[in-house]
Amino acid sequence: MNFAIPEEMKMVLDAHRKYVEQELLPLERQHGIEKRDPDEELPRELVEPVIRRSGELGFYGIHMPEDVGGGGMDNVGVTLLREQAFSFGSALAAASVAGPEGPSLILVDANEEQKKKFVEPLVRGEITTAFALTEPGAGSDAQSIRTRAVRDGDHYVLNGQKVFITNGAHAAFAIVFAVTNPELKGRGGISVFLVEKGTPGFRVGRKNVGMIGGTSQVELIFEDCRVPAANLLGQEGFAFVTAMRFLGAGRLSISAMCLGIAQHLINRSLDYAKQRETFGRPIAERQAIQWMLAEMATELYAAKNMTYHAAWKCDQGDPIVRESSMCKLYTTEMVNRVADHAVQIHGGMGWMRELDIERYYRLVRMLRIVEGTSEIQKMIIARSLLAE
Ligand SMILES: Cc1cc2nc3c(=O)[nH]c(=O)nc-3n(C[C@H](O)[C@H](O)[C@H](O)COP(=O)(O)OP(=O)(O)OC[C@H]3O[C@@H](n4cnc5c(N)ncnc54)[C@H](O)[C@@H]3O)c2cc1C
Repeated sequence: MNFAIPEEMKMVLDAHRKYVEQELLPLERQHGIEKRDPDEELPRELVEPVIRRSGELGFYGIHMPEDVGGGGMDNVGVTLLREQAFSFGSALAAASVAGPEGPSLILVDANEEQKKKFVEPLVRGEITTAFALTEPGAGSDAQSIRTRAVRDGDHYVLNGQKVFITNGAHAAFAIVFAVTNPELKGRGGISVFLVEKGTPGFRVGRKNVGMIGGTSQVELIFEDCRVPAANLLGQEGFAFVTAMRFLGAGRLSISAMCLGIAQHLINRSLDYAKQRETFGRPIAERQAIQWMLAEMATELYAAKNMTYHAAWKCDQGDPIVRESSMCKLYTTEMVNRVADHAVQIHGGMGWMRELDIERYYRLVRMLRIVEGTSEIQKMIIARSLLAE
């Protein structure tokens, strides 16, 4: 068993670290980001050039295949890079890698024309997308979506509503799941469409205001929205077959994010524990604090090893349905416990807005819900155990 990181990957990680330290962190300081309300969404004029530059440097699309301009990086490499991007505790560093890999990986099914129009500009960081599956009546039970797409000549007419769609307000196009055959539903009745911003009948609805303000979830509304049949992704009815292929990678990308955030919170907690004195001694000398730090680091170590192993297994071409669900379940619960300890170690300051430790406590709560809740992951793991 070889745990060494290949030289080529070390070079990528090194180049990314330098990019963040020499360009992104100074840019954040220049814009006074540390003094901004962390619950305010970052200005697009700041984020979009960073995404473009990250695309030029090859970090943004590193997980995508080479034939669309991506880096063709394996899952272990992508996991390490994504973990690193989130470990800086910087919104711009996080933006230097694309959002959850699964959703954009689904675009490998694009035909040549779609690749040129949608996928290549996305990989170059020139445009962004949104993954529109969830509806008011269908989240975990995604096969119950009701957004309908009816073929009419060389178009499909879409009607329906999506909710909680991340980046929906800014995306140049949305990857939209809609029912094309109501009798079949998830067994061949749901298709994926690439719907461009500005298409008549497609609009952004209400903003979904959540526990933290720095992210952007919105409703997307489709009213007799005519989408060219050329924008159907892959074959009609094959949406879930396609999505299933990338579910594992998508879950691992959430795990990598958890690893990076946990590392950041541990680093911050260590620094604080060393400099904060009570009763004449740094709190780092107290066993109560040391035990919290030890638990945080041990859980992170376990989480790292299981995620790297699942990524490696995926790279060998083995199925990782059970493992990716285990990783998603454990790493998201782990980072919630780490964030809780981080608040505790920082005491009153941990709860105050002045430090953004409390924001992380709220941020990581969403990770137990998105990309399949903890309960759904347990259901998948148990099913796979019982099927043996
Ligand atoms: C911050 C954020 C960003 C999001 N971004 C996107 C996005 O970009 N695109 C998108 O399409 N969606 C997005 N979502 C939606 C997200 O994927 C769903 O919220 C999630 O899948 C859960 O679905 P639900 O909210 O309908 O909950 P439900 O499915 O209604 O679940 C409610 C509760 O019941 C439990 N439950 C459900 N079924 C079972 C079962 N069979 N057995 C046991 N327990 C069960 C769940 O675990 C949960 O605890 C986002 C959500 C959030 C919070």
